[in-house]
Amino acid sequence: MVELEVYRAQVREWLEKDAPQSLRGLHDPKYAYWGGRKPELPHPDSQRYCELAAERGLTAITWPTEYGGGGLTPAHERVFQQELARLGFPPPLVGFGLTMIGPTLLQFGTDAQKAEHLPKIVRGQIRWCQGYSEPNAGSDLASLQTSAVLDGDEYVLNGQKIWTSYGDKSDWMFVLTRTNPTAKKQQGITFILIDMRVPGVEVRPIRLISGASPFCETFFTDARAKASDVIAGVNQGWTVAKALLGHERTMIASVFGSGSRNPADRGNALAEIARSYVGEDASTKRLADPVLRDAITQIDMDTRCFLATVQRNADNVKAGHRPGPESSLFKIYGTELNQRREELTLRVRGPQALGWEGPGYSAEELSKTRDWLRSRGNTIEGGTSEIQLNIIAKRVLELPGD
Ligand SMILES: Cc1cc2nc3c(=O)[nH]c(=O)nc-3n(C[C@H](O)[C@H](O)[C@H](O)COP(=O)(O)OP(=O)(O)OC[C@H]3O[C@@H](n4cnc5c(N)ncnc54)[C@H](O)[C@@H]3O)c2cc1C
Repeated sequence: MVELEVYRAQVREWLEKDAPQSLRGLHDPKYAYWGGRKPELPHPDSQRYCELAAERGLTAITWPTEYGGGGLTPAHERVFQQELARLGFPPPLVGFGLTMIGPTLLQFGTDAQKAEHLPKIVRGQIRWCQGYSEPNAGSDLASLQTSAVLDGDEYVLNGQKIWTSYGDKSDWMFVLTRTNPTAKKQQGITFILIDMRVPGVEVRPIRLISGASPFCETFFTDARAKASDVIAGVNQGWTVAKALLGHERTMIASVFGSGSRNPADRGNALAEIARSYVGEDASTKRLADPVLRDAITQIDMDTRCFLATVQRNADNVKAGHRPGPESSLFKIYGTELNQRREELTLRVRGPQALGWEGPGYSAEELSKTRDWLRSRGNTIEGGTSEIQLNIIAKRVLELPGD
C-alpha cells in the first residue's frame, strides 16, 4: 500500500495539474456536487472534476478497488481531505450514496448487489434518497406501513413516505417496507432499493415558509422493485435499517458538529467576524467583548475535541468496526454543538443576523439567518434527540425499560 507521504505528493500533484483549476479556491459546501442522472452543477466543471477523481479512486478512497474505490485506508482519506482544504478544492462528490447506502451495501449486500450499485455511486451517476419516515412512523419507525408484496420476481409497493430529503432530485431510493403485517413490527420489515423512474412513484416537493423545498412526500402506487434488490433478506430489514442509521447519525454529527458546512464560523474566522461587528480593544488588539471572546474560544475547543473523537470513530468504522449506539452520542453532541455555534454567530452579528430579505443586509448575513433556522432541524433529522437519549439509556447505559 502506498505510503502516506508518497500518497500526499501524488494527490497534490493531481490536484495541481489534472483537476480543473477553475474549482481551486471553492472549498465551500455550496460547491458540493451530488451527481445523479440529471445533476445540478454548482460549477460548470463539477461533473468533469467528479469523473476525473472517480477514475483515480478519489471519490470513495476507502472502498474496495473492484467497485471503483481507492482501496486505501482512512488515513489516506484524511490526507486527501487535508490536501483539498490546503489547495481550496471542494470534495469531488458528496451524497447519501457515499455516506449511507454505500457503506450499508458494503456490509450487507451480495457481490452482485455491490457490483451493480457501488460503481454508479462512486462515479456520481446515481443520486440516492432515503425512504424511511411515514406520516405515522417517525420516531416510532418500526410502525411503518408502506407495503411490499411479492409478484413473480418483483415486489409491488404501496404507501407513502414523508420528509424525503431531495426526493425530487434523486434517482434511486432505499426504502423500508412492510412485508409481513402479522409479525412483531420489527420482524416484518424489508429493506429494498427502487429505481424512482418506474411507474407508480410520485414525488411531491413540500414547500417551506422560506420558499425552498428540500423535502418531499413520496407516494407508491403499485410501484415495482426487483426482488433482487432486497438487501439482507426478506423481513430482515430492521437490522439493515439500524445499521444505516448508525452511518447517518455519525455523518450528521460530523458534518454539522465539525462546522464544516460553515468554515467561516470556525475558530479564528469567527473571531475575525466578531471583531468587525463588536470592535477590538485598542491596546491589546483583541476582540473587545471578553465574554464573547470566551464563548468563541470555548466553541472552538469543543469543536476540536469533538472532531478528534468523531475522526477516531470514523477510522474504526472504515477499518471494519460497525457503528453502534455510540453514533447516538455523537449525534446529540454534534447537533447541539452546531446549534450552540449558530446561536453564537447570531450573538456576534446581533440584529444583522435576523434579516430575511431586502436592503440593509449583506448576502452573507441573509444566508446566516437561514443557517441558524436550518440548525433547528439537526436535532430532529436522523432520529430526534429524545430518541437518541432513549437508545443511550437502553443500549449504552443498559438502564431498565421496554
Ligand atoms: C432536516 C430533516 C431531514 C430529514 N430527511 C429525511 C429523509 O431524507 N428521509 C426520511 O425518511 N426522513 C427524513 N426526515 C424525518 C426524520 O427522520 C423525522 O422527522 C424524525 O425521525 C422524527 O419523526 P417525526 O417527525 O414523525 O416526529 P415524531 O416521531 O412525531 O416526534 C414528535 C416529538 O415527540 C418526541 N418523541 C416521540 N417518541 C418519543 C419517545 N418514545 N420518547 C421520547 N420522546 C419521543 C420526539 O422526540 C419529538 O420531539 C428528516 C427530518 C428533518 C428535520
